[in-house]
Amino acid sequence: MATIFTKIINGEIPSYKVAEDDKHYAFLDINPVAPGHTLVVPKKEVDYIFKLEDQELADLNVFAKRVAKAMEKAMPCKRIGVTVIGLEVPHAHIHLIPINKESDMYFNKGKLTLDPKDMADMAQAIAKEFK
Ligand code: 5GP
Repeated sequence: MATIFTKIINGEIPSYKVAEDDKHYAFLDINPVAPGHTLVVPKKEVDYIFKLEDQELADLNVFAKRVAKAMEKAMPCKRIGVTVIGLEVPHAHIHLIPINKESDMYFNKGKLTLDPKDMADMAQAIAKEFK
């Protein structure tokens, strides 16, 4: 059965898309730990990031770098934090999170539910800067 991220990639489930190429898709996390929290996924359905082939993992990271560069321009922050968890959704993905302090990366402090208009505006702002 297709993962929820494959359904998002295929447009069967809506998402706040920020970037896409032929092998990758990036969209806002629906329950961000910080505004602008973005998920970067390979279109190939692999349940665990370290099951990707070396080149696939390299390509995913290079795509994530391009997304992070766009986020740096669109979101005021000191750094784009990077993490991999993968316990909830069995489809490889990288979390990119705009941060100003270490605690902005804490997943256990409770997640946010942001206004849909704010989510759409953030996604659009990041998408505009994506090169
Ligand atoms: P992980 O698998 O890395 O533990 O967490 C999966 C992440 O995907 C979570 O941060 C969660 O909020 C996000 N997520 C789960 N389902 C959806 C969804 O349907 N849409 C979006 N945009 N994010 C989701």
